[in-house]
Amino acid sequence: MVAGKTSPTFTKKLSTANLGFPRMGRERELKAALEGFWAGKRTEQELLETAASLRKRHWELQRATGIDTIPSNDFSLYDQVLDALVLVGATPERFGSGKVTLERYFAMARNSREQTAMEMTKWFDTNYHYLVPEWSAGISFEIDTTKLLGELRQARALNLETRPVLIGPMTLLLLGKGVDGFDSMSLLPKLTAAYIKVLQVLADEDVDWVQIDEPMLVTDLSDKVRDAYRTVYAELTKSPVRLMLTTYFDTIGDNLQTTVTLGTAGLHIDVVRAPQQLAATLAALGPDQVLSVGCVEGRNIWLTDFAIASSQIAQAVEQLGAERVVVAPSCSLLHVPHDLHSETALSPRLRSWLRFAEEKLQEVAALASHDQPARSANAAAITDRAAADTTTNPRVRAALAALEEKHFRRASAYAQRAVAQREKLGLPLLPTTTIGSFPQTAEVRKHRAAFRRGREGTAEYDAFLEKAIAECVREQERIGLDVLVHGEFERNDMVEYFAEFLDGFAFTENGWVQSYGSRCVKPPVIYGDVQRPEPMTLRWTHYASSLTSRPMKGMLTGPITVLQWSFVRNDIPRSQTAWQIALALRDEVSDLETAGIGIIQVDEPALREGLPLRHADWQAYLDWAVKAFRITTSGVADATQIHTHMCYCEFEDVLPSIAALDADVISMESARSRMELLDAFRAHGYPNEIGPGVYDIHSPRVPSAEEMRELLALALHVLKPEQVWVNPDCGLKTRGWHETVAALENMCKAASEVRAQLQS
Ligand code: GLN
Ligand code: ZN
Repeated sequence: MVAGKTSPTFTKKLSTANLGFPRMGRERELKAALEGFWAGKRTEQELLETAASLRKRHWELQRATGIDTIPSNDFSLYDQVLDALVLVGATPERFGSGKVTLERYFAMARNSREQTAMEMTKWFDTNYHYLVPEWSAGISFEIDTTKLLGELRQARALNLETRPVLIGPMTLLLLGKGVDGFDSMSLLPKLTAAYIKVLQVLADEDVDWVQIDEPMLVTDLSDKVRDAYRTVYAELTKSPVRLMLTTYFDTIGDNLQTTVTLGTAGLHIDVVRAPQQLAATLAALGPDQVLSVGCVEGRNIWLTDFAIASSQIAQAVEQLGAERVVVAPSCSLLHVPHDLHSETALSPRLRSWLRFAEEKLQEVAALASHDQPARSANAAAITDRAAADTTTNPRVRAALAALEEKHFRRASAYAQRAVAQREKLGLPLLPTTTIGSFPQTAEVRKHRAAFRRGREGTAEYDAFLEKAIAECVREQERIGLDVLVHGEFERNDMVEYFAEFLDGFAFTENGWVQSYGSRCVKPPVIYGDVQRPEPMTLRWTHYASSLTSRPMKGMLTGPITVLQWSFVRNDIPRSQTAWQIALALRDEVSDLETAGIGIIQVDEPALREGLPLRHADWQAYLDWAVKAFRITTSGVADATQIHTHMCYCEFEDVLPSIAALDADVISMESARSRMELLDAFRAHGYPNEIGPGVYDIHSPRVPSAEEMRELLALALHVLKPEQVWVNPDCGLKTRGWHETVAALENMCKAASEVRAQLQS
């Protein structure tokens, strides 16, 4: 084949590829199979049969859609990173050695009474969680190609030649952590040798192409890491198997020279997240390298603008020739739901703007061919969406345009507010509180489910909620907490609950996306301008506060967390949607304040996970994110106390922005790290009040008062007594009442003992 420099606009169908398909199944069959197996209700054989039939269905669907290059080994019973560790023989030693059985596989993935599973963390900036590799000297690197070859052969039996997907060695290594300070880079030669063996096995099977995922190439890399990339790929590219080096989620940027000189036969880039890298990549590619143009968004659910994607493809074809261009989604479709067929409840108009995995592959196929009808239909849908009055709300736009300096700042500085708050609230030193939710018992879930399915009437459901709230308030008073909460029994999910009240949000019936293992989430869809037609939390907070003379804390989910855990519209900047949500929440804050709620907490657990992958982009994000929080919280009087809460991660590197939120009180997860983060707070000179979590809520274990006293003592080393609050690490909704009461009693005991010491 000669690289065709002759035809600048392509006239024949270009090659198409997919990088990964959602594995749960249209009806989440894998979830049912896994959970059935874990519960002992299904055999291993039944689980494996379900998995095989899902793969078959997904491959056939991709083939029917017109995708030329279909992936294999993208399937997983739990997580693709864990699969990669099994493949190269790099599973943690603490789970045993030898061939990994299904039992051991799940032992690594899931906590059991006997053993803590591997740690889980978010895959780049997605909401998918992978199991974190544990690197240590004793790793065997005995490869196990059972799964890899099993899938390849299963597909071949269906007369399908697939392109196996591997996570690249550098990404795998860099995603992991060295056990006890072990230098994981020292494993590189052994890891490389394992990959060479894997590629040899594939070469022996006459595999032509392999997709090798190296998303780490879109992050900031040191020279040392770039050198390591060169060393590893100098070896891997000796294999007769051709490598499609696959990057996604951001720009290769300053790693471009390194990337194109690794010598792989192909390179995949994401031109949805990072369109600016197309020209530079085209200019830098080697003379025979193939470019896979990721021009259909694999992370979000909106239709592609064919005008943009086509011009990107044409640009590539013009420079490289049609033979060297592949059309593909920007990344694996793991991050979008399966298909739109069952979304019959959505408005047909909104639905016409959406594309899930199956429809995205149809887009890829249409873009690669000269499918005129598909192109016209796309142009019509794009025009319709751009012109739709359902997505633009003049009142919201006007409110946004009218934002002034004063909407971003509390009227007075913290020091002055603190005086007013002390006077008004009259709290003791080391005030005790909780993060908001109390146990979501089977009874709570039962009532909510019955209400949602229309089996329980509003009056009955409301009466149940009042009863639950009253009991919760009484119990908190009995335990002796200083600042109470209503318990959040009415909330299914901290984002969905709010989204359901807000204009501009839509909900799918089956828009499930894998979060980890068998767990899926169904993010709301933000399609239009966000507005709050009526109060969202006022009723229950007000009711709870009427039952007690102690301060009742109002609980809201913050604008960035709502944004992060939704599918966000892509026709206006994210920051603008964030500020619209912030304005809606500002109204809620104001209503709560007017109703006499003197303390309002705005949770932002997802603040940090919104950080861009490239450091250079951090500040711009943090600036608008902090402003969003401040829009929500700055409209209140000095004496009204604003709390925020964060968890799930380390916050050290964004501390200046956390301080810039200017919340009066922040509660944070810190018990598991034994208050480590406080050092950063001290170094930064954090001025406001802090509630470092004094007990871990992730396990049913009841910590003693003694333990919590010790943690408080650690906190008091670093913070002034007037700065410290006493609370658990996070909400209590996953706990049972029994352990919750016992732990909170101990917590209050610890607080009052330390208080007495301080005052003596
Ligand atoms: N207020 C929420 C709760 O208590 C906070 C949850 C969270 O931080 N993820 O459940
Ligand atoms: Zn939390």
